Amino acid sequence: MRTLWALYSFVIGACFGSFLNVCISRWPEGLSVVRPRSRCPRCERQIGVLENIPLVSWLALRGKCRGCALPISFQYPLVELIVGLIWLAAFLHYGLSFSGLCVAMFATVLLGIAVTDAKHYLIPDGFTVFGLVWVIGTAMIALFTGGHEPFVGLYEALIGACVGAGAIAIAGWLGEVTLKKEAMGFGDVTLMSVVGGAVGPQRALITVFLGALLGAVLFIGVVYPIAWLRARTARRDFDPPLVPFGVFLAPAAMIALLWGDALISTYRRYSGL
Ligand SMILES: [Zn+2]
Repeated sequence: MRTLWALYSFVIGACFGSFLNVCISRWPEGLSVVRPRSRCPRCERQIGVLENIPLVSWLALRGKCRGCALPISFQYPLVELIVGLIWLAAFLHYGLSFSGLCVAMFATVLLGIAVTDAKHYLIPDGFTVFGLVWVIGTAMIALFTGGHEPFVGLYEALIGACVGAGAIAIAGWLGEVTLKKEAMGFGDVTLMSVVGGAVGPQRALITVFLGALLGAVLFIGVVYPIAWLRARTARRDFDPPLVPFGVFLAPAAMIALLWGDALISTYRRYSGL
């Protein structure tokens, strides 16, 4: 029976992954995710129901459009697989519970935000408005169902949403003053409001700290040197590439949600605070 539920969680997750792909490709263009039905971008052939089954269809079509043989991006099956695994992992860890559903949905939204920010340097309101309504709404439901850990209760969720947005706004403002250019988009502020609403004020601060750390390590350690070398070899001026901060805040938020309390108590033990 448990195996059946596990399989079912994976399938539900893969279906959410399939819808997440639609959000990732349409929201940055300002298009609706409901209409029109999916079409091939080259031959405009409408994608039928049987060609729209998560993972299975991509494999059956060998990653090509049936009409014009245009390769279908590997992003589609990859996102479906990852979201399927997220929902499976949530079931295996939390069982069939409200907490499990909330963790799976939170991780799904964060993945959508990270992929969109990486591709377009953009965090669409679709993700963050849904995310904020979801975290506050589920915190309200949890008042009656008796909690949904690792998420915070309603009171902390409301304060956390404000602290998260405020903390990232302060970080962005200080970054702007130091770097003399725009360091943070408003999308990061809305993202941190969702994260703060999910994890509460303390772990929201951990998220900003971890996200900045991850971003700094990867950009100063890897991305900047590569861009600098490329500019040198092409005899161009070095123009440092933008940092899609949401890409780092998203995994940082998951770490803060699952292990934030452990991090805080370890820190307190060693610092004596
Ligand atoms: Zn086509």
